[in-house]
Amino acid sequence: MQMLMKGQRRNIVIAVAVTAAIATAAAGVALMGVRTAQAEFAAPTFAPTPAAKVVVPATGVALVPEGGADLWLGPDRDPYFRIHEGMALPFLHRYEDWLLVTTNCDDTAWVHDGDVQVVAAGEPQPAGSSFDVAEAVIVLDPGHGARDWGGVGPSGLAEKAVNLDIADRVRQLMESPRDIDWSSGAVTAGSTVPSFRDVVLTRDVAGPDDGDFEANLSFRATMGTAASADAFVSIHNNTVPRLDTELPGSEVYYSTAVEGSDRLAGIIYEELLLSLASFDADWKGGELLGARARLDPDTGEDYYGLLRRATVPSVIVEGVYISEPDEEALLASGEFRQAYAEAVYRGVVRFLTTADPGAEPNRPEYFEYDAGTVSGNVCTVPEQP
Ligand SMILES: [Zn+2]
Repeated sequence: MQMLMKGQRRNIVIAVAVTAAIATAAAGVALMGVRTAQAEFAAPTFAPTPAAKVVVPATGVALVPEGGADLWLGPDRDPYFRIHEGMALPFLHRYEDWLLVTTNCDDTAWVHDGDVQVVAAGEPQPAGSSFDVAEAVIVLDPGHGARDWGGVGPSGLAEKAVNLDIADRVRQLMESPRDIDWSSGAVTAGSTVPSFRDVVLTRDVAGPDDGDFEANLSFRATMGTAASADAFVSIHNNTVPRLDTELPGSEVYYSTAVEGSDRLAGIIYEELLLSLASFDADWKGGELLGARARLDPDTGEDYYGLLRRATVPSVIVEGVYISEPDEEALLASGEFRQAYAEAVYRGVVRFLTTADPGAEPNRPEYFEYDAGTVSGNVCTVPEQP
């Protein structure tokens, strides 16, 4: 199901640029082969043979359809693995009908664009009242997956599953036209805000194990870059609060690497409070609430790898504390998850279609601790059964 892509408008025949891109891709492939020796298949080690007709590669996301799709060592070489249906694979290079995709384990591989559904990268638009939501591309990133459970509540609720369901609810809100009551926060079927052009999940419920698979940080960040996403929102919930708070202890971490990320964070924070504060709970939180950034004291760059790698406006939303009994109980309910999802939806719409500053972001903090989670060094690429 090859589609005519908007990205192709930008394709220009410049042989020199393509040669450089292919050299870059080849270098990347060789590097991946070394770094991911533990992956369950051999990473491709061949670059394509340049042909007479060449185009500047477009970027975007390849959606693997029902039945899976073949990964190839190179254009017109050999397929070596059939990747699971329902996965979204970002591509940063195109060579004729072939896309150089990144797998969930950060390996690179080629797919034929006729074997996948192609989501063309977004065309950047300035935020404000003239922003056309119908042309917007959003990447939603449900935090954690598979062996990496994220936080776990006292009664056993896993953050990875909650995050996935909330992200899927945001996607459903974005995929239909809506009306928004900005004072109550209610989001209903309507016509004021059109459907977003494309909404991509890094872990999709249509994928293997209903979306419960491992996804490396680099893969997640690459999804935002390849899609030229108008916003990248990673959905999480927190653990280990430090004190009692009057309001939900929501925190939204922004990328200091990409302009606008702090405004996106401040707006989503305001919308989270509007949606969540009306629920009854013995709220917990930290010393700082709202829009935050953490920097690595050694490098001065964003502490969180996802935000450090960002090239589009990106945030990590920490909704509430799954480690606390009251908040775990709320996170177990569809009503609360929907309220969380509506807050993220409104936040993204406000970020794109207004010049609102949102809540004042906290100044970036140097972060000395290890907040890392399970690494992806035994990551598995899911195979189509
Ligand atoms: Zn998390």
